[in-house]
Amino acid sequence: MQLSSAKSVVIVGAGTVGTELAGEIAAAQPDKDITLVSSDNTLFPMYPAKLGAQLKRKLERAGVNIVLGQRAENLLHLDRPYAGSVKLTDGRVISADLVFPVIGSRPNTALAQTLSGVATAPSGRIQTDKWLRPSKYPNVFIAGDIADIGDGMTIVAISRQNPWLIKTLKQALKGQAIEDLKPYVPWKKAPILLPLGPKIGNSWLFATVGDWVTRQMKGKDLFISKYRKAFGR
Ligand SMILES: Cc1cc2nc3c(=O)[nH]c(=O)nc-3n(C[C@H](O)[C@H](O)[C@H](O)COP(=O)(O)OP(=O)(O)OC[C@H]3O[C@@H](n4cnc5c(N)ncnc54)[C@H](O)[C@@H]3O)c2cc1C
Repeated sequence: MQLSSAKSVVIVGAGTVGTELAGEIAAAQPDKDITLVSSDNTLFPMYPAKLGAQLKRKLERAGVNIVLGQRAENLLHLDRPYAGSVKLTDGRVISADLVFPVIGSRPNTALAQTLSGVATAPSGRIQTDKWLRPSKYPNVFIAGDIADIGDGMTIVAISRQNPWLIKTLKQALKGQAIEDLKPYVPWKKAPILLPLGPKIGNSWLFATVGDWVTRQMKGKDLFISKYRKAFGR
């Protein structure tokens, strides 16, 4: 409702959520004035340059203004969109009917924090040893967003961690010492799917791929049918 009545939108943060959001809004409501702000000088600088360059070109072609190398200095909220203005490092002020702060999420670690010996990383995630163990308890493991093991906070990370964890738990149940088992090795560079609405986008699947693959793998229905099936809905 807030979004459909907004004429101008500023998205602060060009990670996966911010970039996808800009693309989705531009595809669904092309008349809006959309600005995407990133403190980095390119989109997705941790990936080969082609990925960020192509995403930038596609977003700009869809009418999104991209502001790179600028931080927003006055975000009013970090957990919800609001009407207001964004002051950038270079002094520019961009006003918008809706400002989306998407500069990263922090996992809810409250339960894990109750374990004795747990340490929290600056990111808010829980530090683990090489076997995804966060505490002094040798048979307690964690996975997913809360685990600070070198993976991003993504389902792609979990899809690597869970099979390892299942295998490790099975071996532990057979009586093998955890330290004798193969440690978890995080993604070196995780695959990433970045649809910009239902038709276009780019992904990095060990090489940069474009619209067709991104659309087939995610953009077309954003995994909704897959999850409906998985949850029997
Ligand atoms: C807007 C958005 C879009 C995203 N899109 C993508 C994407 O396209 N691809 C991708 O790979 N990743 C994406 N992600 C990231 C992905 O959603 C997360 O990495 C993933 O959900 C993390 O899974 P998790 O199980 O670690 O945590 P969660 O999915 O957050 O699950 C944790 C669960 O634990 C429960 N919980 C917490 N504390 C307690 C407690 N004390 N007792 C009981 N239960 C508790 C919570 O209620 C929750 O159900 C996206 C994230 C966001 C926010």
